[in-house]
Amino acid sequence: MKIVRTVAELREHVRAVRRAGGTVGLVPTMGALHRGHVSLIAASAQRTDSTVVSLFVNPRQFGDLGDLAGYPRTEEADAAKAAAAGAHVLFAPGVDEVYPDGYTAEVRLSGPLTETLEGAHRGPEHFHGVTTVVTKLFNMVGPDVAFFGAKDAQQVLVVRRLVRDLNLPVEIVVGETIREDDGLALSSRNVRLSPTDRAQALAIPRALEAATAELAAGETDAEVLTATVRRVLSRAALLPEYVAVVDPDTLQPRTTVDVPSLLALAVPVGPVRLIDNVVLVPAPQPALAGAPAGAAAPDATPEEG
Ligand code: AMP
Repeated sequence: MKIVRTVAELREHVRAVRRAGGTVGLVPTMGALHRGHVSLIAASAQRTDSTVVSLFVNPRQFGDLGDLAGYPRTEEADAAKAAAAGAHVLFAPGVDEVYPDGYTAEVRLSGPLTETLEGAHRGPEHFHGVTTVVTKLFNMVGPDVAFFGAKDAQQVLVVRRLVRDLNLPVEIVVGETIREDDGLALSSRNVRLSPTDRAQALAIPRALEAATAELAAGETDAEVLTATVRRVLSRAALLPEYVAVVDPDTLQPRTTVDVPSLLALAVPVGPVRLIDNVVLVPAPQPALAGAPAGAAAPDATPEEG
């Protein structure tokens, strides 16, 4: 695996892959790689001929300068993990390579996808930073396929919308959230948790699990489900920034979970802020006794005759 720092070197690699008729995958990361990143790199290595992993802690998507300063930077270990997972290039540019002197361009989406949940709490600049850097990375690499994690569910929607709105010629593939055995979603920020913080953070997967179990037991009221999440968090002395049940495509709030819905939350724990989510899928409704076939399922194909 090659480590490259300039767009010129990167393009040289990509040109060679293309000349040989190969396809290119991109896995954008901010480094401090863990098994979540590794699963995306492995998926790219399987799907495409050459995988580029970008490692860039994008200052423009951090509203909180303490979070930016404290963000873990472990390039050497990252290079080893990326190579082992099947990456061909680690693209690790400096800030000046990405934002040269006098840089002023910005790519922004407006509306609920960027302004609710993370956008409301981190500020809309967060997603402006994401859409700007993702557009730049797509232009630098020109990937056929780019890989993102479901853990950042809102980011996935934002990137998909960006690709659609700007006709970017790239396919977006989403990898499932990878968790520790005890349920905590892997995050680069987890390394900043003390053992006490980490034990407290386990209330997050427990809370999501409690809501999932409550839904399975028949509770579909979104307010009741979010109250359950808040209660489990509060028992661990955690106060979430938000807990929301929303449409998984538009992020519009849902009041009833009668169709698959995204349960998303953000919670400060110790020195960091963690996010997590789960898709709540209601149990299929039993057909009403005595009702004609298909009456309980409006989408069912009508029977002939
Ligand atoms: P980051 O380095 O945090 O910007 O993340 C880079 C990519 O890895 C993003 O697409 C994330 O959604 C994804 N990712 C982060 N954590 C996980 C996880 N636990 N499981 C799967 N993907 C993840």
